[in-house]
Amino acid sequence: MNQTSAIDHVLEHNVGYSRTFTGADLSAPPLRKLLVIACMDARINIQTALGLNYGDAHILRNAGGTVTDDVLRSAIVSTNALSTREIMVINHTGCGMMACTDHGLHEQLNEKYGPTNHTPLDFYAFTELNRHVMDQVARLRSHPWIPQDTTIRGFTYDVTTGQLHEVECG
Ligand SMILES: [Zn+2]
Repeated sequence: MNQTSAIDHVLEHNVGYSRTFTGADLSAPPLRKLLVIACMDARINIQTALGLNYGDAHILRNAGGTVTDDVLRSAIVSTNALSTREIMVINHTGCGMMACTDHGLHEQLNEKYGPTNHTPLDFYAFTELNRHVMDQVARLRSHPWIPQDTTIRGFTYDVTTGQLHEVECG
């Protein structure tokens, strides 16, 4: 890869994209009434892997595909104000959040930046992939502000095959 800025590269792409843009009439509530929560890992082309087009689904991504307070906030908005009826949680093999620990990350950051007075951040590192999926699904299912009749299912994604596998979440 050359030294061109990644942002400059995408801006250049966007000029062409906007010339042939066809999404002007889409409504804000997702057409498939679907919310996807997944890891930010760059190897997962989430829309292509799931066959979703723009307008189809809400997609929330973060390190680990973890149901943090902010993911809950968006899931509550999605299910209550924007008609979402189904939620998929997708975690994946080879996740970077399995290769570290919260303690190790805090130590590294303290070493790099020195001790701070900031509230310690949870990184939600984890060790067992299926267990992590189950925990995220349970967190969504137990929240009183997510409608009881929302379908919430958990999956793992294999970064070497592109395959999804459902995790039995009770
Ligand atoms: Zn990941």
